[in-house]
Amino acid sequence: MALLDIQQRIATAEGKANRVAGSVKLIAVSKVQPNERVAEVLQQGHRLFGENRVQEAAGKWPDFRAEFAGVQVHLIGPLQTNKVNQALELFDAIHTVDREKLAKKLADAVQKRGSCPELFIQVNTGEEPQKAGVLPAEVDGFVKTCRETYGLPIAGLMVIPPVDEEPSLHFALLAKMAERNGLSGLSMGMSRDFERAIALGATHVRVGSAIFGERVAGVNL
Ligand SMILES: *Cc1c(COP(=O)(O)O)cnc(C)c1O
Repeated sequence: MALLDIQQRIATAEGKANRVAGSVKLIAVSKVQPNERVAEVLQQGHRLFGENRVQEAAGKWPDFRAEFAGVQVHLIGPLQTNKVNQALELFDAIHTVDREKLAKKLADAVQKRGSCPELFIQVNTGEEPQKAGVLPAEVDGFVKTCRETYGLPIAGLMVIPPVDEEPSLHFALLAKMAERNGLSGLSMGMSRDFERAIALGATHVRVGSAIFGERVAGVNL
């Protein structure tokens, strides 16, 4: 069974890296997966999931939450400022804080609600023009702005490495940036490279297709 296999591989990777057993959180990325597959993983007892679209999450997670206690859903895709309030209703964590306008909106909304999701800053370590994320040179300044100007507690950093480069270089860079900013959370590693991410300190791995199978185009979109 795929979930069990991934959990075992995570445990092995934790052991090899001398990490505490259970210290790496597995985010099962359920985007664009048929609801039956998601229900199956819930029935197996898994409770932490990732989605990359607000709209898609709104269409499935309220019902799953009503059926399964203790579900947590993390937003791992881009967040438009006009969807901040909806995102705060739906998600326990946001991994994609990447610009000041969004930080400001989040700060205003968090103040009104009186509660804040776990927040990660997405870093564009590969400096890819088409990709979201703060550029490496701007990370320290942006962390400071989030904390000092907007009073947002930042849990850590998140990266999606360029597809055609060795991900370990990007994981190591992210870990270094987190450390010098006093951040303990590292959201990094996907189906093809989560073990390498754990070796370099990942606290949250985001694994989709290795758990659920290949994504089915057109489902839930
Ligand atoms: C889809 C997605 C994942 C999971 O990708 P897999 O290769 O299926 O494991 C992880 N992180 C983000 C940000 C994603 O959009």
